Formats: sequence, structure tokens, C-alpha cells
Amino acid sequence: MFIVLLGPPGAGKGTQAQRLAAATRLLHISTGDMFRENVKNQTELGQLASTFMDKGDLVPDGVTIRMLLERISRPDAAEGAMFDGFPRNVVQAIALDEALAARGSKIDRALLIAVPDDELISRLGGRWICRNCGTLYHERNDPPRVPGACDRCGGELYQREDDRPEVVRTRLEKQKPPADLIQHYRDAGVLREIDGLRSLDAVTESLLEALAR
Ligand code: AMP
Repeated sequence: MFIVLLGPPGAGKGTQAQRLAAATRLLHISTGDMFRENVKNQTELGQLASTFMDKGDLVPDGVTIRMLLERISRPDAAEGAMFDGFPRNVVQAIALDEALAARGSKIDRALLIAVPDDELISRLGGRWICRNCGTLYHERNDPPRVPGACDRCGGELYQREDDRPEVVRTRLEKQKPPADLIQHYRDAGVLREIDGLRSLDAVTESLLEALAR
């Protein structure tokens, strides 16, 4: 099964992807995580990507698509995967469709987590991530037991460069799933829209239901 998770930055996509991956045992592929890993390791790709990421811009399609296609060509993605943060536009969606079609697969579900803008701005400002294991927290909605430290591994929590308030608005404007991308999956009959303005657990439950239906 191949699943696409769609939603604006701050809709809870990353958190829900971690939960869905745990519940379904699907391979979780996050292009944002892959770029951050490259930035951390100071690879050539990371250096290029960070010039876009730091401004809240999308990394160019050519680079992003190449990275994603390489990732899904590995054996662990043979049976299925859940894509988080990819595709961001129709060009990327078509590249993914074509790569899957070439191996006799397709996207089975596109799950859209919908949340209004003002709520997104307040959420993005409060996001913290464990430097060690990548677990996500939120100051207001999902705080760690000890401020600044990860519940799971005790690692240091940090705020992403692109979660700073001045970058948040740019990211929202530039990175909301575009209407034609949503339409692409609606036309394919695989789109399911989920109200993201509820508790984490309620949203996870709806996502799992949408997968089962
Ligand atoms: P995310 O963790 O999905 O919010 O991604 C963090 C940053 O990585 C984004 O702001 C983009 O700069 C870049 N990025 C991640 N996925 C993509 C993608 N599919 N296309 C272009 N840029 C991406």
C-alpha cells in the first residue's frame, strides 16, 4: 500500500505520520527528514537544500524528485510506503505516479489533514524536536514531561530554523498543498479529507479509518 499524507505545515503531518507508521508498519518516508539529515551531515545535497529550507522555500523539484525516486528504489520500499511531505505539487505527484506505475503500483490513499491558517501559525511557533531521536513535541498540545528534554531518550530539544515566526508565514503561503495537487488525488478517487482541528488521538483514529475504508 502506498499512501500520501497531505497537509499544510503545522497540520500535525509529521506527528501523525509517526503514529500511522507505528500502527500500520508502513515504511515512513519524509523528504523533510531526508533533507535535514543531509544538512546535519553537511552533504552537498544538504548544503543546497538548506539555502531553500532556511527561507521557507521549497527545494527545487529536480533535486527533490531524484532523492525520492532513489529512496523508493530500495528494497524496503518494495511493498509500500507512507509519504510525508512529498509530493508538494503536481509535478512531483506525476513523477511519483509514474515511478509507481512502472512497477505496477499506485497511490492507494491521499490523506489530507485540514487545519485553518490562524491555528497553524500558533502551532508552528510551539514545535520542538529531539536532536537525538527526532520525536516531536508541542509547547501547548503535546509538551515533554521535562521542558527542553525528550521523554523517550532524554535528548536535547531544539526548534527548527524554519519554525521561527517570520519564516512560518512564508512557509504557510508557499507550502500549503496547492489546490491542483488536492484535485489530482480527488480525480484519482483516492483523496480522504480529515478534520485536523481535533485532538491528536482523534485525528489518528480518523486517519486509520480512512485507510481501512
Ligand atoms: P517538512 O519537514 O516536510 O516541513 O520539510 C522541511 C523543508 O524541506 C521544507 O520547508 C522544504 O524546504 C523542504 N522540502 C521537504 N519536502 C519537500 C518537497 N517534497 N519538495 C520541496 N521541498 C521539500
